[in-house]
Amino acid sequence: MRIPTPTRLMPEDARPSSHERENIKNFAPDALRERLGREGLPKYRADQIVGWLYARGVEDWDEMTDLAAPLRVRLAELFDTRALDLGEVQHSVDGTIKGTLRTRDGAVLEAVLIPEEGRMTLCVSTQVGCPLACSFCATGAMGFTRNLSTAEILDQVCRMREALPEGRSITNIVFMGMGEPLLNLPNVVSAVKTLQHPKAFGMAPRRVTVSTSGIVPRIAELVEQVPVNLAVSLHAATDEVRDILVPINKKFPLDELLGALKALPRLSRRHPVFFEYTLMEGVNDSEEDARQLVKRLEGIPSKVNLIPMNPHDDAPYQPPSAEVASRFMGILVKAGLVCTLRRSRGSDIDAACGQLALRERRASS
Ligand code: SAH
Ligand code: SF4
Repeated sequence: MRIPTPTRLMPEDARPSSHERENIKNFAPDALRERLGREGLPKYRADQIVGWLYARGVEDWDEMTDLAAPLRVRLAELFDTRALDLGEVQHSVDGTIKGTLRTRDGAVLEAVLIPEEGRMTLCVSTQVGCPLACSFCATGAMGFTRNLSTAEILDQVCRMREALPEGRSITNIVFMGMGEPLLNLPNVVSAVKTLQHPKAFGMAPRRVTVSTSGIVPRIAELVEQVPVNLAVSLHAATDEVRDILVPINKKFPLDELLGALKALPRLSRRHPVFFEYTLMEGVNDSEEDARQLVKRLEGIPSKVNLIPMNPHDDAPYQPPSAEVASRFMGILVKAGLVCTLRRSRGSDIDAACGQLALRERRASS
């Protein structure tokens, strides 16, 4: 990163190193106003700063030309503006783009751009690794390193914007990369506030989706704090099977999880819960599984996304045949559930669901 001009005027030893400075992206716009106020700086400048950082993508204090020079000097002393560096960018044959990103302390994470008709979705990570160890997920097999900061979550958007194809922009964000978002709730909420703030990224509420494996007490907390789509990784309709696939189910079993979802305010057919159900051959893909799923989801406005398992070396599961998958879907559709079945994208570059960080981990182990 280029050192902003004002700090060049300072003697070498007085220049704060980037490690010492707070990252300004850790503050959602309202929190930034307060932070500036505590520093004796004009609070109303927060919106301008946010506009430069996110709407215009400018991270060099010196380029924020409508801020007075002394203010820029002070801001540069106090705040770093970047949290991640973009490393390798891989392009899948299906148009998916995976970026490898490095934190200041050398951790590696990944974010994936998924182009679709009329939209460009970015899948972001919330943790380095994940502590929940779902038995089919490569991220889970990595173990857990740490939570990402708000700045590190937002910088995935800032850096991946640089990898966009010409003329495209990010229209949707899904928190479905590495990690369990609800185990990093304050940072996720703060990042969502910046994504949705009109002066920052200005994303409409329903263009942001947060996926959870079912940390029950945090679900209501999330939806009370920010208006997002909620996705729940279900993967099984019985505790017996879900205990094996999603071990957090032993702590928060299906009755509790689905009961908590039923109690959420503002759910409707227009604003359903998105259930993810990864189909695994011989594990959760029988007709009986489908019927049990229908029964379980009664009374919850739902949309079910069926995803055939993306196989990898860290899990003993395979996707079912196309025939079995469409039979499963047929049962859901016949029962009136809104349902999609699609292969996840980018598997040739290890960018598909549950494959993130697999290659980096292998390379370093
Ligand atoms: N931790 C959160 C969000 C990240 S995982 C969660 O579990 O919801 C994003 C989605 O990918 C989840 O539904 C997860 O269960 C699914 N997934 C993980 N590994 C997969 C694999 N190998 N094949 C298909 N889907 C997988
Ligand atoms: Fe973690 Fe989600 Fe993977 Fe489970 S599926 S190990 S919760 S990232």
